[in-house]
Amino acid sequence: MSRIGNLVGGKSVDPTSGRFAPVFNPATGEQSAELGLSSVADVDLAVQAAKKAFPAWSTMAPLKRARFMFKFKELLEANADAVAAAISSEHGKTHSDALGEVQRGIEVVEFACGIPHLLAGEFSRNVGPAIDTYNDRQALGVVAGITPFNFPAMVPLWMYPVAIACGNTFVLKPSERDPSAAMLVAGFLLQAGLPEGVLNVVNGDKVAVDALLHHPDVKAVSFVGSTPIAQYIYATAAANGKRCQALGGAKNHMVVMPDADMEQAADALVSAGYGSAGERCMAISVAVPIGDKTADALVDLLLPRIQKLKVGPATDAQAEMGPLVTRQHKEKVLGYIDAGVKEGADLVVDGRGLSLQGYENGYFVGPTLFDRVTEDMSIYKEEIFGPVLSVVRARDYGHATKMINEHEYGNGTAIFTRDGDAARAFADSIEVGMVGINVPLPVPVAYHSFGGWKRSLFGDHSIYGMEGVRFYTRLKTVTSRWPTGIRSGVNLNFPSTN
Ligand code: NAD
Repeated sequence: MSRIGNLVGGKSVDPTSGRFAPVFNPATGEQSAELGLSSVADVDLAVQAAKKAFPAWSTMAPLKRARFMFKFKELLEANADAVAAAISSEHGKTHSDALGEVQRGIEVVEFACGIPHLLAGEFSRNVGPAIDTYNDRQALGVVAGITPFNFPAMVPLWMYPVAIACGNTFVLKPSERDPSAAMLVAGFLLQAGLPEGVLNVVNGDKVAVDALLHHPDVKAVSFVGSTPIAQYIYATAAANGKRCQALGGAKNHMVVMPDADMEQAADALVSAGYGSAGERCMAISVAVPIGDKTADALVDLLLPRIQKLKVGPATDAQAEMGPLVTRQHKEKVLGYIDAGVKEGADLVVDGRGLSLQGYENGYFVGPTLFDRVTEDMSIYKEEIFGPVLSVVRARDYGHATKMINEHEYGNGTAIFTRDGDAARAFADSIEVGMVGINVPLPVPVAYHSFGGWKRSLFGDHSIYGMEGVRFYTRLKTVTSRWPTGIRSGVNLNFPSTN
């Protein structure tokens, strides 16, 4: 069994805490690796390595920093299959889905390749007599990233390519449930020749996270994970004077208007509801058809599509949906299905009790569909993060938008319609950060930015794209004149252009 440690100062280093966590293959339920959990001292070692690397890295020409990103991109492309295999073996998602995740991560690296242009400042000549002003954005120092299990390669790549290209040095704390893909990917950036200490990885749990949150040399924290932890990270980072963006959980609704292309809407719902076994923060977990006629037609179209889905391990090329990440998470999702039945929702497709030959100990739950879910039920209010799609029948468009706006989460949403007016009104007024119009998973591309509203994001900045550049830099504005321009003598009035 392999043992996974840390990457500090360009080298593999074993954590010293003597604490370990098992890593499992979710398709078989067997332990595949042992993860060393970092202590406060292990985290400090990584932060010190990053701090030492900062002066030279932050003053290197951005064009030179970008060249590491170009090499990193090439290595990721050449090794995409290996990264996808590492993702699938610990997360459980299918190989093709894992390849999609790697590709979306590479796209952020491509964005970071443009850093010289992205960091170009602004210059204003003659803001006063012979006075010029320019501004630029400077790196913060050592920044940390704490990432979730569900995109073990992509979410770290949302963070450090942009942070590092901006001139920061980085300490990553990946999810302890599936750390191998993050380690592999970080290794490729080191292989690209990155100076030691610019990127460090510490594995661990709350102890490592808290050490980062309280470390005086960590200037900013990026977090992606569940809402209670996001809120804790944001509050703790802010209390320690750190900049923080903390992305949290979701409950994404898809409104189906009576004029929608119903076949297209049903395809979209099944893809976005059950892809990656529903373990995506942009998964659609609530379908909101407008009126009973639309709802009946939609459920009739969903049923055969769901029944056809093939659940299996990632090693089965035919599988469309894999297992859940851990036994505990499987139990939690099954608990929600039980709760939905108890609360009175119609269980149209029951994913409980699924057992796959040869994979009886895997964490599989079949695709599940509830109809006639109401807003007071726990399966509506809470994030399930599994292959459970709820149909909430809305009386009319106003009812649909009210329920979305009143929900605690505001990550993503979609509307399916042929009516441009309705789509525009929806996009304008809905209180959600990312909106799809006939697009079920409106995950912004790398040169836009990703972020929800309400309790789906704590902090001011979305992640990657220009928002990422703004988060990982601070503005400096310089106003200058030269001695020949200073003719006015002493003047105690407040300077103005009058
Ligand atoms: P999680 O909150 O359990 O863990 C995320 C990270 O926080 C991990 O690195 C973990 O080690 C750390 N952590 C966990 N408990 C902690 C504690 N008590 N103190 C300090 N650190 C702690 O999330 P997860 O289960 O790995 O990921 C799934 C969640 O992430 C879902 O809620 C999903 O919606 C969310 N998510 C959100 C986005 C987004 O962009 N908004 C993207 C992906 C996932």
